Amino acid sequence: MYIKTTGLVLRETEYRESSRILTVLTSTEGKITVSAKGAKRRGSRTAASTQFLAYSDMTLFSQRDRYVLTEASSIELFLGLRDDLAAMALGSYFAELMDTLADADIPNPQMLSLGLNCLYALSEGRLPKSMVKSGFELRAMCLAGFEPQLDFCHVCGRRDIAAPVLSMAGGVVHCAECMNGAVTGEMPISPAVLEAMRYIVSCDGRRIFSFKASENVLAQLDKVCEAYLLTQLGRGFGTLDFYKSIV
Ligand SMILES: [Zn+2]
Repeated sequence: MYIKTTGLVLRETEYRESSRILTVLTSTEGKITVSAKGAKRRGSRTAASTQFLAYSDMTLFSQRDRYVLTEASSIELFLGLRDDLAAMALGSYFAELMDTLADADIPNPQMLSLGLNCLYALSEGRLPKSMVKSGFELRAMCLAGFEPQLDFCHVCGRRDIAAPVLSMAGGVVHCAECMNGAVTGEMPISPAVLEAMRYIVSCDGRRIFSFKASENVLAQLDKVCEAYLLTQLGRGFGTLDFYKSIV
């Protein structure tokens, strides 16, 4: 059976001399493994459209649970990423996160469109990288079922929290005075950071970066979203370590 779809290449492994095995987040089939025969051959028509972080129209031949690429043409190659090492490193982290968070074979168009929006933003280079990073991390966590409960203090129910504290493991927020003593995995955050997080979890996905925040707030937001993600997932990411080693 032939399938026409669009997909973002999350991983690309060389296979034999001239072929590639791809992990692709597609708009219709979810995350799938695709073999792209001859994609590395010199002059191959699919070389560009099957490279890492290419977003392409793809025609696949599917048989049982295997997909073979028969045709591909690139829609967007995010060229701005390819000559900016830090942007490429961050894009690689996004790809590793999507690979981790997206389920195999279950369509997840929202995760794909979040990934594309964030890669466009990185490639254009107009927004601070820390803003794109925190937006991606927090929103991807929400889409994967790890949305933190940020609307009210989970102890007293107040919405306007003067001194908010985020519980990393619990995924809830509370007033500093509502919980006594320091508990492991709790991080005090400013009300402005809480406001930005509330925006990111609840906004229309296309307007994820339409909020204003000072440099200070963005720096704290970056730390908090990253810590939340790493705590909830209980693991680290080599691509994140690499990104942090060069910025
Ligand atoms: Zn409270």
